[in-house]
Amino acid sequence: MSDTYDAIVLGAGAAGLFCARVAALRGRRVLVLDHAEKPGKKILISGGGRCNFTNIDTLPERYLSNNTHFAKSALSRFTPRDFLDLVEAHGIAWHEKTLGQLFCDGSAKQIVEMLLEECARGDVTVHCGDAVASVERSDEGYTVRYGAAQAQAPSLVIATGGPSIPKMGATGFAYDLARQFGLKVVQPRPALVPLTLPADEALFRELSGVATEVVVTCGKTAFREAALFTHRGLSGPAILQISSYWQRGDTVHIDFLPGQESGWLKAAKRARPKVALRKVLGESLPDRLAQALAERLALTGELGNLSDKALDKAEAQLARWPFVPDGSEGFAKAEVTAGGIDTAGLSSKTMEARKVPGLYAIGEAVDVTGWLGGYNFQWAWASGFAAGEAI
Ligand SMILES: Cc1cc2nc3c(=O)[nH]c(=O)nc-3n(C[C@H](O)[C@H](O)[C@H](O)COP(=O)(O)OP(=O)(O)OC[C@H]3O[C@@H](n4cnc5c(N)ncnc54)[C@H](O)[C@@H]3O)c2cc1C
Repeated sequence: MSDTYDAIVLGAGAAGLFCARVAALRGRRVLVLDHAEKPGKKILISGGGRCNFTNIDTLPERYLSNNTHFAKSALSRFTPRDFLDLVEAHGIAWHEKTLGQLFCDGSAKQIVEMLLEECARGDVTVHCGDAVASVERSDEGYTVRYGAAQAQAPSLVIATGGPSIPKMGATGFAYDLARQFGLKVVQPRPALVPLTLPADEALFRELSGVATEVVVTCGKTAFREAALFTHRGLSGPAILQISSYWQRGDTVHIDFLPGQESGWLKAAKRARPKVALRKVLGESLPDRLAQALAERLALTGELGNLSDKALDKAEAQLARWPFVPDGSEGFAKAEVTAGGIDTAGLSSKTMEARKVPGLYAIGEAVDVTGWLGGYNFQWAWASGFAAGEAI
């Protein structure tokens, strides 16, 4: 015996719940299936428990994809303001933390509760705790077997996310299913992830726990935010951001003193010739970092005894300190997965597979990856909205 629906959504995460809500409020009968014991687990741990649910400065340029135009349509049809309207309609207090990032004042739980209330308003059936055993397509549509049950619908939405943080139940299931229906998958890789440093950078690893604002650059991409030294390498928002652009073998450059005017070390020498470089650096940087950098620059003694040439060279090194990471902390620590279901096979308007009628893919499962700071949830809402309007 098979229950029939208008649409079956696989994955009760951000994208899946939102898509189900949109479709249900249009009168569709929707079933959402998730193998986890409860819905929205990643939302609950997001933003340090406060969920950075969108970014008011969302722009398509702030997403990585093989097709950088793909996200434009969906992002323009469901904006951060649209999501904020819903948050406010549910009386959820929020604040902007920094750089357009909007967080709940209270808890991420409020966002999950809001999504579930909205789904309940549309009579969505949310079933958790059973793995999807199989998905088949016939003239009648899609048949999904899960636990001891099965359901059928003309539309199937893949919203099972990517494999980042497997211990939370994240899997590569979306890719297996996409391949089953002939869709291509862009090689998935960990993104928004700490980078690791090789053994010869031990000096910096000893700075574990030290943070400072930097400009970090990889190729043509740069971010100005905090970087954090860890016992394995580098982390903090600036590093997580650049990690999405980093590929093995790339050098990452750090400007430890962003905003300093050219010639500032020579100016310091003229103003205070008796002061040591370490002390000058310590005025703008955490003490342990100032010491480590001064040691690596090998410039000891008073500034007045150092040549202008040596100071120019030190200034240039401090503004473009090279690190060659030997890897990242991988999917276990990655906030998101870059790559995923190839957008070339999907409609940017509806998220429907071009060659497989009734099959949709949304959220992190798709090859669209946002910057740190609420961009990934905004993609989950916007792609969920696009599919929810179409199914
Ligand atoms: C620690 C952490 C903090 C984050 N903080 C933020 C933040 O503050 N702001 C932001 O924008 N982004 C944040 N992100 C990223 C954000 O959580 C994701 O981009 C977003 O959740 C993606 O939504 P999704 O619905 O596509 O996938 P998910 O939310 O991952 O949902 C996928 C669902 O599918 C289910 N599933 C997986 N495999 C199967 C299967 N085989 N069968 C059935 N169900 C399955 C999972 O259980 C899950 O419920 C954070 C991520 C992490 C890990």
